[in-house]
Amino acid sequence: MDLQTLYQELILEYSRNPRNFGKPQHYTHSVRGFNPLCGDDITIYVTLEDNKLKDLRFHGTGCSISIASASLMTELLTGKTISEALSQTSKFLELVQKPFSEDIDLNQYGNLAAFAGVRAFPSRVKCATLAWHALEEILKHPEQTQHKQVSTE
Ligand code: ZN
Repeated sequence: MDLQTLYQELILEYSRNPRNFGKPQHYTHSVRGFNPLCGDDITIYVTLEDNKLKDLRFHGTGCSISIASASLMTELLTGKTISEALSQTSKFLELVQKPFSEDIDLNQYGNLAAFAGVRAFPSRVKCATLAWHALEEILKHPEQTQHKQVSTE
């Protein structure tokens, strides 16, 4: 199995069996992200406690890329501090927004590298970044963001 196939499998697996999926009973912050280009509509629910993402979940509907990306995000960032989560978020956004012509050392990105392929399809980049942008909105201004909506447009 080549790397590209492996990455496609990973995206399919995470979209079919999304991790941390469903609206939790308790949370401190939520942001609803909407991508009108594709119709992805995902809400991120996070419980911030002692400067950490104690609980991170998502709910909504979307294409396999948006669901897989949100799914992987919740898995990677649960338990992290706000600053660790923000740096992972910038790393991911930087990866998928790099020009496709640019060579990237995929080894440093772990499973996130599965999404490097979306760079070839600019309209899908917003699917991959939706959940991350929504979470970033919360983490950058936790004191102002209790419950909010963001759109990629
Ligand atoms: Zn989408």
